[in-house]
Amino acid sequence: MPTLELTFLGSGTSAGVPMIGCHCAVCRSENTRDKRLRSSIVVSYPDGGNAEIQRTFLIDTSPDLRQQALREPEALSRLDGVLFTHAHADHIFGLDELRRFNTVMGRAIEIHAEADVLTSLHQTFPYIFERSKHPNDGYIANLIAFAREAGVPFDLCGATWTPIRLLHGRLPIVGYRVDMAGKSLAYCTDVSGIPPESHPLLQGLDLLVLDALRYRHHPTHFTVDQALAAVAEAAPKQALFTHFNHEIGHEELAARLPPGVAPAYDGLKVTL
Ligand SMILES: [Zn+2]
Ligand SMILES: [Zn+2]
Ligand SMILES: [Zn+2]
Repeated sequence: MPTLELTFLGSGTSAGVPMIGCHCAVCRSENTRDKRLRSSIVVSYPDGGNAEIQRTFLIDTSPDLRQQALREPEALSRLDGVLFTHAHADHIFGLDELRRFNTVMGRAIEIHAEADVLTSLHQTFPYIFERSKHPNDGYIANLIAFAREAGVPFDLCGATWTPIRLLHGRLPIVGYRVDMAGKSLAYCTDVSGIPPESHPLLQGLDLLVLDALRYRHHPTHFTVDQALAAVAEAAPKQALFTHFNHEIGHEELAARLPPGVAPAYDGLKVTL
């Protein structure tokens, strides 16, 4: 049976954990699950038309992308496309590293995002998107951009991807739902609110990945309790929390969560 696989490249908030200059218990923890690079995942599955080929997609390009790819050579030995949730620095600054995947794949890399995110990428990396203005055509990422819209599904190599409208404070961003051969997952990072039109897209999931920054209220991220309420509403078979800051200790949180819900950690692989 074809399977949908997910690998956590990073499960940390924008500053990562440990944080520079912090001496708290979690930042000093020796538990490898308390060491969090910036949030990003890999989704892979056999090609719908040619099961011999394992397709690999990245959600977001964190500033730690190079380190993450070197740590997970099995998950990221090829790259068939990148999907962006939003244009915050902790989700896009690794974009430049995609040039290595141009070489590995021998072709341009497709990127998918909402139009405003593509505009931000263009402004942040003008040398990638306006190659003609570059003085020489050196070692620059070669990307093909596709504008996607919330709620409008599209096919990538036999799986259906649907951007899910989420609210990150006042900023509308997207998560992604992936449906492939009867299996489904949704990745919803950097979320503080789920608008009503998105609720149907979070039903019937095998796996829901949700932002759960910390225990205390935050204007742009779910707390652990808010994430638990969203899990209760969506009722997935399994849920994983991510994008943690240093107030979350892995073991302490794992012990608090109900059955079927767990904290993600860097390097965690899930097969559906
Ligand atoms: Zn973030
Ligand atoms: Zn700390
Ligand atoms: Zn963000």
